[in-house]
Amino acid sequence: MLDRYLEFTNSAFGKQFASSLGLPTPPRLQRAESGYAAAPLAGMKVLIAADAAATASAAVLAALRALGATVQVAPGHSGFAAVKAGAQAAGVELHSEGSDSDPIAPVIVFDATGIAGTGGLKQVYELFQPRARRLVANTRVVVLARATADTDSVQAATAAAGLRGFVRSLAKEIGKNGSTANLLEVSRAGDAWLSGPLAFFTGPNSAYVTGQVLAVGDAPKGATAPAHCNQSLAGKVAVVTGAARGIGAAIAQILAREGATVVGMDRPAEEGALGATLSPLNGVGLALDVTAPDAGERLASELNARFGGADIIVHNAGVTRDKMLRNMTPALWDMVLDINLGAILNINERLLQSGLKPGARFVCISSIGGIGGNAGQTNYAATKAGVIGYAEALAPILAKKGMAINAVAPGFIETQMTAAMPMANREVGRRVNSLAQGGLPQDIAEAVTFFASPLAMGINGKTLRVCGQNWLGA
Ligand code: NAP
Repeated sequence: MLDRYLEFTNSAFGKQFASSLGLPTPPRLQRAESGYAAAPLAGMKVLIAADAAATASAAVLAALRALGATVQVAPGHSGFAAVKAGAQAAGVELHSEGSDSDPIAPVIVFDATGIAGTGGLKQVYELFQPRARRLVANTRVVVLARATADTDSVQAATAAAGLRGFVRSLAKEIGKNGSTANLLEVSRAGDAWLSGPLAFFTGPNSAYVTGQVLAVGDAPKGATAPAHCNQSLAGKVAVVTGAARGIGAAIAQILAREGATVVGMDRPAEEGALGATLSPLNGVGLALDVTAPDAGERLASELNARFGGADIIVHNAGVTRDKMLRNMTPALWDMVLDINLGAILNINERLLQSGLKPGARFVCISSIGGIGGNAGQTNYAATKAGVIGYAEALAPILAKKGMAINAVAPGFIETQMTAAMPMANREVGRRVNSLAQGGLPQDIAEAVTFFASPLAMGINGKTLRVCGQNWLGA
């Protein structure tokens, strides 16, 4: 659904009108218009800084080089020696940042993996404070902290936790011009798997992801790092449930954009819409209700017969049937629980017997409603919180099989589901986030595709909110 307020305030007259009344002017977000390039940062300046004892700089610089970035540094910053040492180790050429009157690089990466205590946080302040006022529109800030389990002391763990508050607050300050800030908490083993997360978080694919914390760790056994970012799903078979429309259709499109063959599933009543979504993608439609008792069996047979199994399973099908608990009938409760959660467990249980290829990756769609809760959504929120717990619980089991599972928690996304909301609720839902607008189905699809791809090899059991830093449950 068109966000008329955003369109209006981005016109010359609308901008002036809104600013004279002190109304918010949602920025126009820069989203990906095509698939990942082989080296997505080619031709782009990236400013890198570090704390003086940073331990991941060589890995970060090697990743930035692989992504094609032109690396800039701030020689006056107190952690410059760590960056220089990292660059020498990685064989990366450094360029000095321009003068104060030059535009700041549109990507800023701060390696804060060596901060040993509270005082060390000042180094983050020193880098960002003088630049905060001068960030260009749609700047991507990525801060790296050492994962708590891999910190050397209570003081270091405390400082690493402090970075969460810093990044979340910075994201709230810089969202006005479409800029984002996110934190990667990296284990030592995760250093080897940084190029994929950096490709996602420094690019247009993460336009609606801000103020988030994501852990990067080791990859499943036998995984190899992708040599380049383009067409990373070529030769892969991906299943998407609820693919006829809305977010599911966008997921099918973006997975196909990156090279996957998509098998889209939806209820038999949606067969026409399913065909319309999948035929331009050369995909396969499967009219099958996810709650059918034989859904797992039929899907597994189809996958095995046609493709010898699937590489990617995206559980997107979901419904809302909102009622205050006092008015909720057993039928409404059961329906939402069965579709949004029960079906995921049943289908996966069957596919894990046979129907998957080695290294399979699962992605489930949760919701920020499952994190913050919503009056009138006890059924829905129970399922969406369940999805998060399911991913956490299944991840270590899948890791032993060389597989992975993650979840994406959308905020307010412009779909038929949200178009059906009362107008006042819809308008509030759109604005209560750091980017002052609803997300698009494409935003969820980009995050799902990232998790489904080798770019997210070091991420397992995690949930990423794609919500513009919505205030719900923040
Ligand atoms: P949508 O526009 O209603 O699309 C959902 C699709 O799933 C529809 O095609 C629907 O078919 C299908 N589906 C429903 N029940 C099914 C079943 N039993 N078997 C197979 N397919 C079934 O919803 P959406 O907004 O794209 O949402 C997609 C996912 O994102 C859901 O899991 C939702 O909970 C989650 N989410 C959405 C938002 C948002 O703001 N839109 C926010 C947070 C989370 P029918 O039309 O026939 O029912």
